[in-house]
Amino acid sequence: MRDDVKQLLALQNTDQKIQALEAELVRIPQLQEAAKDRLSNDTQSLATAKSNYQANEIEIKSVELDIGTRKNTIERLKNQQFETKKNDEYTKLGEEVVRYEREVDELETRELKLMEIADDLLSKIAGAEANLSKTQGFVDDEIAELQARLDDRKAELAETKTTREGLVAQVDDEDLVDTYHRLYNKRESQAIVRVTSERSCTSCHVQVTPATYALAQSGAAIAYCDNCSAILFP
Ligand SMILES: [Zn+2]
Repeated sequence: MRDDVKQLLALQNTDQKIQALEAELVRIPQLQEAAKDRLSNDTQSLATAKSNYQANEIEIKSVELDIGTRKNTIERLKNQQFETKKNDEYTKLGEEVVRYEREVDELETRELKLMEIADDLLSKIAGAEANLSKTQGFVDDEIAELQARLDDRKAELAETKTTREGLVAQVDDEDLVDTYHRLYNKRESQAIVRVTSERSCTSCHVQVTPATYALAQSGAAIAYCDNCSAILFP
């Protein structure tokens, strides 16, 4: 293989490596975001459990308030009953007391039910908290691992770019470097490619002429694919 083709091939390998590293630098932060997203389900479940519990507490307070109001009323009615001299009023007040006492009973039954629900909701909060902290642990580990990989790749990329500068400097013919760049971008990172013993270009897979094949083999001059212009080596 000609020295300049060998140098360009090394440059191409380095460019492919840089390309892969740059793709990883884009992908790793996306993976970190995806890891964080897995937390949001658990965070949401915990928030829902807490707000359900709070709504239930508000309902308990409201029932307690209703019970208190009715008990006050009952006390007032009993005082009125004690003070009245009229039989029919006494009876009527007594009926009202019974009605309010029944309501207090119903409200107290309801309060007990709400308290049972509160216990249930509390254990749901505890479960959601446990899930969240478990997921948080996994996610923290994963994000830290990804961060370490990201830092590695950044260092590797800087190193590879320095190597690349050295490789470009080695090629004497600047026009050839330009041709390489143009081909590299046009041929999807396949500017310098092998031509097979069946004369097939491994970039475009078209068969080159015997003359082109012979040139690639002899190395007398740089051989370009007749179809895609990729630089050929045997
Ligand atoms: Zn070709």
